[in-house]
Amino acid sequence: MAARKKWDPAESQRGLECPRCGCRHFHVLYTRALPGGRILRRRQCRYCGARVSTYEQEIEREPKDGQPDDGCVDGPR
Ligand SMILES: [Zn+2]
Repeated sequence: MAARKKWDPAESQRGLECPRCGCRHFHVLYTRALPGGRILRRRQCRYCGARVSTYEQEIEREPKDGQPDDGCVDGPR
C-alpha cells in the first residue's frame, strides 16, 4: 500500500505528543484558518486514534501600525 504522506518536519519539531499514548505521529484531518491569524488543526493519532485539536497563533507580526509614513508620495489634495 503506497500511502502518500505529507509530513512537515517543522511540525515534528514542535513536540506535539499524543495525550494518550505519547507518540508523536499524527494525521492532520483538516486545517482551518481562523480570524486573527490563528490556524486550527485537527489531528488524529496514528496509533491510538485519539483526536487532538491544536491552535497555532502567529507570534511574530509585521509591524503595520506605528510606522511613520515619512517619504509618502501621496500629496495633500
Ligand atoms: Zn496516541
